[in-house]
Amino acid sequence: MRLQYKYRLYPTLGQQAALARAFGCARVVFNDGLHARLEALAAGLPYVTDGELSARLTAAKGTPERAWLGEVSAVVLQQALADLNAAYRNFFASLTGRRKGPKVSPPRYRSRKDTRQAVRFTRNARFSITPGGKLRLPKIGDISVCWSRNLPSVPSSVTVVKDSAGRYFASFVVQTQPDPLPKTEPAIAIDLGLTHFAVLSDGRKIASPRFLRRAEKELKRAQRNLSRKQDGSKNRAKATLKVARAHARVADARREFHHQLSTKLIRDNQAVAVEDLAVTALARTRLARSVHDAGWSAFTAMLEYKAQRYGHSFYRIGRFEPTSQVCSACGAHDGPKPLHVRAWRCRACGAWLDRDINAAVNVARAAGLAVSACGAQVRPGLVPAQRGEAGTLPGAA
Ligand SMILES: [Zn+2]
Repeated sequence: MRLQYKYRLYPTLGQQAALARAFGCARVVFNDGLHARLEALAAGLPYVTDGELSARLTAAKGTPERAWLGEVSAVVLQQALADLNAAYRNFFASLTGRRKGPKVSPPRYRSRKDTRQAVRFTRNARFSITPGGKLRLPKIGDISVCWSRNLPSVPSSVTVVKDSAGRYFASFVVQTQPDPLPKTEPAIAIDLGLTHFAVLSDGRKIASPRFLRRAEKELKRAQRNLSRKQDGSKNRAKATLKVARAHARVADARREFHHQLSTKLIRDNQAVAVEDLAVTALARTRLARSVHDAGWSAFTAMLEYKAQRYGHSFYRIGRFEPTSQVCSACGAHDGPKPLHVRAWRCRACGAWLDRDINAAVNVARAAGLAVSACGAQVRPGLVPAQRGEAGTLPGAA
């Protein structure tokens, strides 16, 4: 399985300039390719193939206007085209319905003002890790790396990223073998809570940790401070950078929290079920959901790859009914309830139901059904690990 390992980079000023050149060249190649396809589309000409774009790139490097593309590694430029081609493939797949999930928009021009600048080197670009532990990139140099954890094997590619806070990262793609954990009994389902980050089917409610809340508070303060600064002033520029840094800290803290929680949940449980947000978004609209959205998909992606890695099961459940209308104990429908109703008694079986936990248990029920017989609500192909060996989930009886 392929995993990403991310490390902070500390390029020198000269290396930063070389990287800026590489970002710029990759952007130009991407935009030229996009332009060629859009032009052909507007003129009613056939789609410009991947091979044709590649040939045009080679030709462009021979012209005076684009000769400077030769200053960066050719692999970086090919990878920019590969990004464009992948963006088109995803867009087409989404159009024709071959790709599930949210609609993919057509590729857009990249800008030097984008908050994320990136270039990718593959192994044939001869990037390497020096004996001294630096990252050697062709036409850029040996960059200092903070090796925060071990790289498990030789990476197949590395993406160098500069974020909006001006920080540099190397993201390595590594092929690893699954590393099965001993079998455990418990299974659990997770639902997004309204007042909590997540609610578990065993009744536990998990709030965001203090370090994340603190980072979010800092971000709010920085944003307030920015809004008071005058347009175009030097102080405004400073405050903008502070906001970008605070954003980065929130993103880091959130990722850290997601890692901690997902590792714990996968280690402690043989099977983990979550609701599929793509379905949820269609099925119900809750204000708080949209706030959580980005975090939820990143978190469930972590659960998925960790389950695969450790040989435990992971289920994505598509539900088409508002969970607050169904009793998780007896399955009775008793109608919608306004958002302020946090708990109620089921009129059919008399069970006392907490809104969030009820939702989580309903996710577990749906996964349980999938395990035993029908599976109609589980998207096949999204269940990576040992599906047949999962036990019945709590609440599925
Ligand atoms: Zn009931």
